Amino acid sequence: MRVHAAGSPLLADQLPVREPGALQILVRVLACGVCRTDLHVADGELPAVPYPIVPGHEIIGRVERLGSGVSRFRIGDRVGVPWLGETCGVCGYCRRGLENLCERARFTGYTLDGGYAEYAVADARYCCIVPSRYSDVQAAPLLCAGLIGYRAYRAAGEGSLGLYGFGAAAHLLAQIALAEGRTVFAFTRPGDDAAQQFARELGVTWAGGSDEAPSEPLDAAIVFAAVGALVPVALAAVRKRGRVVCAGIHMSDIPSFPYRLLWGERSICSVANLTRADAAEFMQVAAAVPLEPSVETFPLDQANLALKRLREGHLQGAAVLVPPQVPAPTQPQVPPSTAPPAPSRGPPGAARA
Ligand SMILES: [Zn+2]
Ligand SMILES: [Zn+2]
Repeated sequence: MRVHAAGSPLLADQLPVREPGALQILVRVLACGVCRTDLHVADGELPAVPYPIVPGHEIIGRVERLGSGVSRFRIGDRVGVPWLGETCGVCGYCRRGLENLCERARFTGYTLDGGYAEYAVADARYCCIVPSRYSDVQAAPLLCAGLIGYRAYRAAGEGSLGLYGFGAAAHLLAQIALAEGRTVFAFTRPGDDAAQQFARELGVTWAGGSDEAPSEPLDAAIVFAAVGALVPVALAAVRKRGRVVCAGIHMSDIPSFPYRLLWGERSICSVANLTRADAAEFMQVAAAVPLEPSVETFPLDQANLALKRLREGHLQGAAVLVPPQVPAPTQPQVPPSTAPPAPSRGPPGAARA
């Protein structure tokens, strides 16, 4: 399912299955989570999207072919393919252990074809093992909502925690925070009783609208919603020295606000992407804390519906796409010539990228 132009629906395209390069693996996609970033890719809200592109960066796949230089995995292994697809390894950020900020990073489902597909190719060095306790569809949202959410969670520091936007990431982070004995406040769209009830069922201390103030000043807040107006709201909710972490890749403009909201050594920061060390650490946490990812599955060819439901806020937890699971071919399908064939466009369901 590919995005051909900003703002247009995804189309079901038929493409040849790619051969993995020396350091890559070919995976059969078992499940792929739907992330808000995919909406930003589809809507053209991120710079320089190389359309047409296959979105999807929460891939759970089964290894079908190994590049000649891959020794980390075996055929048949279940792996996760996250957002961080490639880094240069030599820029100042990479050398300082900040590969999440690499100047030449490439990202799955944004600048590299992703997992809204039956097959995906990924650099094996950036793939990860996902805990076996999770099914394929449960594991998919761990790859971004969980993993990048966890980087934001660590950036927020200790103490009571406010979560603005209670979707795929927040519902996982809330479970980790509660397991660690923290007080969790869930802020949803005003009037979204279903999301507030969902948060309460997960055991949060308090759930209400983002137009409500918490009963006590928070130690930290994470803004998952792509709504800049929530930044001053969250700042007003944290105590002195409190920290507000913006966890999304895109956000509407932050309105101006009085300096007194920042005064008292409060801070605002963003969290960008992930490192492989983040992935390893988070997967250990996910193996130890029995998370219960709330997922709603959609067939791959219903990707547009899944994105629509996410856009409208009609999901509890995460949407996950599931490709049709047909027996794998014994031989890889390679294009007959070196020139990539033009994609065919058919009605949804007729062919799948
Ligand atoms: Zn994501
Ligand atoms: Zn780099």
